Amino acid sequence: MKQIILLKLGEIVLKGLNRRSFEKRLMKNVRHSLKHLGGFDMKFAQSTIYITPDMDMDIDRTVELLKKIFGVASVVRAYETQKDLECVKKLVTDIFANDLLKAKTFKCAAKRSDKQFPMKSPEICALIGEYILDNFPDLTVNVENPDIIINIEIRDYGAYVHTGKIQGAGGMPVGSNGKATLLLSGGIDSPVAGYMTAKRGVELNAVHFYSHPYTSERAKDKVIELAKIIAQYTGPFNLHIVHFTKPQLEIYEKCPDDELTVIMRRVMMKITEKIAIDTNSIALVTGESIGQVASQTLESLGVTDAATALPVIRPLIGMDKEEIVTVAHKIGTFNTSILPYEDCCTVFVPKHPKTKPKLEDILKSEQVLDMNNIIDECTNNLETIYIQP
Ligand code: ATP
Ligand code: MG
Repeated sequence: MKQIILLKLGEIVLKGLNRRSFEKRLMKNVRHSLKHLGGFDMKFAQSTIYITPDMDMDIDRTVELLKKIFGVASVVRAYETQKDLECVKKLVTDIFANDLLKAKTFKCAAKRSDKQFPMKSPEICALIGEYILDNFPDLTVNVENPDIIINIEIRDYGAYVHTGKIQGAGGMPVGSNGKATLLLSGGIDSPVAGYMTAKRGVELNAVHFYSHPYTSERAKDKVIELAKIIAQYTGPFNLHIVHFTKPQLEIYEKCPDDELTVIMRRVMMKITEKIAIDTNSIALVTGESIGQVASQTLESLGVTDAATALPVIRPLIGMDKEEIVTVAHKIGTFNTSILPYEDCCTVFVPKHPKTKPKLEDILKSEQVLDMNNIIDECTNNLETIYIQP
């Protein structure tokens, strides 16, 4: 009888021909995420990953990490025994006696994915249920709302008993759906946008625009901290810090005040595009949502998009701030995001930004800038930080 962790897969199961490569990617991500926690054995069968930890592995910590891996629909802490109901009975009393003594009501649930097994699920439930009633006379059965559920799964490899599954992160394994570059500010939105994109299996790297001394070293540390939280879900990635003060001052000096924001955003897009192409990314990701601020009207988003030939993914496009905040809390970025350090975009805000910029006007205003030079200077002086959770 040994402890085992079962990972049930989500959408991957539907993936037809590509399924094998999705599964392989997920196994790789799981192995990578757990490698510093000690030894373990891992195998795959029947849409499930089986992880058997060595004695020294911290199971609580392992489960915490596994809950954050995209592609895992649920995590189950189970005990394994032989496919023999006498062994299952022994397991129930050996392992779950304390839990059963604490409960007033229970039910059994059985699943038989090994169709060779001679008894059907309802029969398994009846037999084990009766055994529990005999051994724990204070317990009664409650099918609707029991204090404890004894789940019995009869699978190809053995019999597994557990008291319930823990919800996983869902989505698809990171790396199974291409790579994109996240524009990561220190705000609430962009970390959530990165999380949501990675959830669909997209590998990330990130770019942060930094305007020292207008933004402090602490603002940079905050972004690094946010990146580390995102890396808990995505695995390690590169964060590229762009030293943006010089071009920002140039834009500030030379361009019309009411167009500053949109021009700045276009320059950010162009620089990020170059970094994306150099790092094999095929899309950009931002935390914009329609109408949230002046620079995020539909017109402004259109003018911003026109700065790059790469697709710009905006996972938050239809979300209210409140909904975004809920996700930020869930993934653990909120408290870091609200730390009060200035972002480069908030330092240079015009008093009356244009809410309906026209591309042809903006292109004209931009002519005073030596765009290629700005892009080259910024991308040649990148500071790249390898982010690990
Ligand atoms: P956020 O909460 O993500 O900062 P926001 O609502 O404050 O978003 P803006 O400041 O207008 O909105 O930024 C819109 C998007 O532009 C951000 O979500 C992010 O993707 C990108 N962005 C803004 N500032 C930076 C920065 N300094 N470095 C990298 N990306 C940035
Ligand atoms: Mg911001």
